[in-house]
Amino acid sequence: MQITGVDQHHLEHQAGGSFEPTWIPGYPQGTHEVELFEIETDTGLTGYGAMPSFAGGMDFSEPLSYFLLGEDPHDVEGVLRKLDSINLVGPRPWGVEIALWDIIGKDAGKPIYELLGGSASEIPVYASTGEVMPAEERIEYVGDVIDAGVGAVKLRVTEPDHIEIVREVREAYPDLPLMVDANKGWAVRVMEHERQWSFREALEFARGLEDVGDVRWLEEPLPRHDYEQYARLREATDVPIAGGEFNDGIHHFREFVKQGSLDVLQPDAALATGIKRADEVAAMARQHGLEYVPHTWTNGIGFVANLHVMAANDSPWCEFPMEPPWTPDVRDFLLDETVDHEDGVVTPPEGPGLGVEIDDSLLE
Ligand SMILES: [Mg+2]
Repeated sequence: MQITGVDQHHLEHQAGGSFEPTWIPGYPQGTHEVELFEIETDTGLTGYGAMPSFAGGMDFSEPLSYFLLGEDPHDVEGVLRKLDSINLVGPRPWGVEIALWDIIGKDAGKPIYELLGGSASEIPVYASTGEVMPAEERIEYVGDVIDAGVGAVKLRVTEPDHIEIVREVREAYPDLPLMVDANKGWAVRVMEHERQWSFREALEFARGLEDVGDVRWLEEPLPRHDYEQYARLREATDVPIAGGEFNDGIHHFREFVKQGSLDVLQPDAALATGIKRADEVAAMARQHGLEYVPHTWTNGIGFVANLHVMAANDSPWCEFPMEPPWTPDVRDFLLDETVDHEDGVVTPPEGPGLGVEIDDSLLE
């Protein structure tokens, strides 16, 4: 089998309102933008991959064609070696690698989780919020997601005194598993810069979470490459520490493990590793007594790519973005069907490859 075509489509979808994600400080997000990669083969099979986009995006179809045409999509390692060059001069290759697996699965007539040696496990979702909200509003929100059958919530914080929001939510819901994301690992710094925490502030925050109780992890309280500081923090607190969603390549996870930086490894297949390396990070987590719970907040293709790796590795949780107007329908606007949770659990699609279809009307 040979790759005969590489197309890139810039897609935009109005969310019907806006919210203020902590990862783009000062920028209300009302549009969902995606770069969709369509890889064609001489067998007629087509695979899809995707990466997040911003402000109209950039087109990489020509340089990607240069590296991909004539390659066999089954040769993931060989193609990754070529795409390592693309990582130097163009986009990260991970969203493109997803399309290879879509083709391999379609060719084999099997879903990706099965190619990875897994089964269609049910994974409990946690509602992932996107903005900092006053405690009173957030408590109401939590009531809504519990009514929808979801059994855990991840709160966003940006300032050390947001520990009070976490406390108030805990008081309102004493038995609810909580996760807390400080989003200090990276940011889209187009309007404002996020305020970084000092090591001392991160440690005090973590100790505050010890008091709150049943906090499953504190996510990215420090910049994403500060392996040593992460290790010091992890050593000094009982709250599990999570990170790695937007690191770039498996060597970062090797470093996290080597330095003892994290309890929860969170590589997003669409942003940080692709599918093959995500599966390798999951194995690394298993070997070192850590958890593998990937970030999933990109788009329908990225979500499903991560879901297949989670199912193959029995992840304890699945990040499920729920911050209206950012609903599952908005996340999955590029798919002909939304991948929703049922009573708080999600299972990967069972069709071949990613198991999802692109909404054709968007490509015309
Ligand atoms: Mg995060």
